[in-house]
Amino acid sequence: SKAKGRNRYQLYSGNMNVSFAEKLSIEMQMRKAIDRKEFQVFYQPQICVSTGMISGMEALVRWSSPLHGSLSPLEFIPLAEETGLILSIGEFVLRSTCKQAMLWKNAGLPPMRMAVNISSLQIEQDGFCDCITQLLQEYHLDGSMLELEVTEGALLSDGEQMIAKLKMLSSMGIKIALDDFGTGYSSLSYLQKFPIDTIKIDQSFVRGLPSDPNNVSIVTAICAMAHGLKMNLIAEGVEKPEQLRFLHSLDCNEAQGFLFSKPLPGNEITGLLMRNGP
Ligand code: C2E
Ligand code: CA
Ligand code: CA
Ligand code: CA
Repeated sequence: SKAKGRNRYQLYSGNMNVSFAEKLSIEMQMRKAIDRKEFQVFYQPQICVSTGMISGMEALVRWSSPLHGSLSPLEFIPLAEETGLILSIGEFVLRSTCKQAMLWKNAGLPPMRMAVNISSLQIEQDGFCDCITQLLQEYHLDGSMLELEVTEGALLSDGEQMIAKLKMLSSMGIKIALDDFGTGYSSLSYLQKFPIDTIKIDQSFVRGLPSDPNNVSIVTAICAMAHGLKMNLIAEGVEKPEQLRFLHSLDCNEAQGFLFSKPLPGNEITGLLMRNGP
């Protein structure tokens, strides 16, 4: 049953004593999911705080499984990384996002920055940069419309190689965003070593704004630092007008969250883009 399936899945993610057969069965579901086109990409607008206009989008993968129902990426991305399936899922997300960007471009909409979450396994894979180059060519897109969101953990995994690849991508005009900033193994030296264009303030720091003094101190410090380093700054998980007002007072560049829009299928975003104005 559906309920049982969900339960079994949670057993996997929470309990490492799960049998090999069990893991394999879940892996098989995910493998089939790619072939059966059960994955879909949703997009969440990123808003320029000073003008209120949409300045970009984040692509977020969705899995609607006949057996498990709608699964959160938080539930299946870790397993996808463990099994290597993240490579095909990640390529699907990149391709879908480029295709969507081309559709909007062909519809006469102004070019929109598209941010895609990238697992370190993808970057480490041979040919990652070539794959990106090919996708951009195939969909007639400029590198500058693409932003790759990586986490601090990804930057830890593979020092020199990772720096070289990110610099290569950066030289193609592609932007690099540091996701969930402040939640990982933060060493500020990453901000110098890697070609980072954007810092994303994790939603855990945004949640208590403007009343929680700890959140206020942390976000104020991150804003000052991002400005000093001339990096773009995006606050995640913005749900309330008072959070936005506070971010505005700090000159935070962009905001993303349910206050503006939840992640939506591309065709539902099209209407928002057509009305996009100051
Ligand atoms: P993330 O990259 O930090 O993405 C932001 C998450 O916050 C998304 O959850 C989004 O739906 C949610 N969110 C957006 N606005 C708000 C808000 O105002 N309030 C709250 N409470 N939440 C908000 P989602 O889509 O469930 O994704 C969870 C995580 O899964 C992502 O976190 C990312 O780490 C990962 N993920 C999602 N799609 C992909 C993908 O295509 N590839 C990879 N490698 N990871 C992905
Ligand atoms: Ca992200
Ligand atoms: Ca994030
Ligand atoms: Ca997150």
